[in-house]
Amino acid sequence: MTIKVAVNGALGNMGQTVIRAVFGDPELQLVAAIDIKGDGSDIGTHVGLGELNIPVENDLAAVLARSQPDVLVDFTTPFAVMQNIETALSLKVRPVVGTTGITETDLETIRRWSKQYNTGALIAPNFAIGAVLMMLFAARAAKYLPHVEIIELHHDQKIDAPSGTAMKTAEMILKSRGQVSKPDVEELEKLPGARGGNLENIHIHSVRLPGLVAHQEVIFGGIGQTLTIRHDSIDRTSFMPGVLLAIKEIMQHEDVIYGLENILNL
Ligand code: NAP
Repeated sequence: MTIKVAVNGALGNMGQTVIRAVFGDPELQLVAAIDIKGDGSDIGTHVGLGELNIPVENDLAAVLARSQPDVLVDFTTPFAVMQNIETALSLKVRPVVGTTGITETDLETIRRWSKQYNTGALIAPNFAIGAVLMMLFAARAAKYLPHVEIIELHHDQKIDAPSGTAMKTAEMILKSRGQVSKPDVEELEKLPGARGGNLENIHIHSVRLPGLVAHQEVIFGGIGQTLTIRHDSIDRTSFMPGVLLAIKEIMQHEDVIYGLENILNL
């Protein structure tokens, strides 16, 4: 059975990469492309695939109702993602969401909608397998090394900070070791924000520069030693195996899956 897929944010950096990946997978059928800038032009011509007879449209609910996809892939913006998820679930279309900025409270809401509409959803702050491994290794190392800080580095068009990956890494570290030690000194922050954001003693620093894609370092400190775990997405194709797997996997679920690690056999 081919899985019918719609892509929201189709004209964005990730959306265009997803369109090409879905089109290239024989188990998937691209049925719709949505973007706030959708003007009816053919998505294939935007992504270098030639005419596909799929216009980029801008009314999500209308497109989903008409094209009846099995899955909606969403790479849009933190400002719109919750509305998009509710629209999809209410039409019994399974959302696969890469858009970041989703909070714990948002997740509770998504779980409620998923139950209400009896439709599964998969949310992943990072679809790159290497990034998932980085988070798991960090959670493991945290059992043995009491001090840790996170530096995440992204391109300068990223809206939210810190990244969803950095937040998830910090949460996994806290779950792994209960609590993280803070420096044994009374700190004086001479420039506000110099020590970054602070999630229960884990300092998170966000770098935004052109030329970057998505990168993260988790630096642990112990007595006389440091351990650095680093992941680099140097191209947006790094996320595609995870996105394609998520589209196929969510067909088997009616609940909410948060994090790619939950569908990988790690
Ligand atoms: P982008 O290049 O700005 O693409 C987003 C696209 O969505 C743009 O074309 C944007 O239009 C459009 N859009 C904005 N609001 C919309 C709405 N309400 N409905 C439909 N389309 C809308 O951003 P990106 O780099 O592709 O990243 C998109 C999201 O994915 C971000 O949240 C980013 O952090 C996240 N991300 C996640 C992963 C992961 O592995 N989970 C990896 C990379 C990125 P405008 O340009 O007019 O705003």
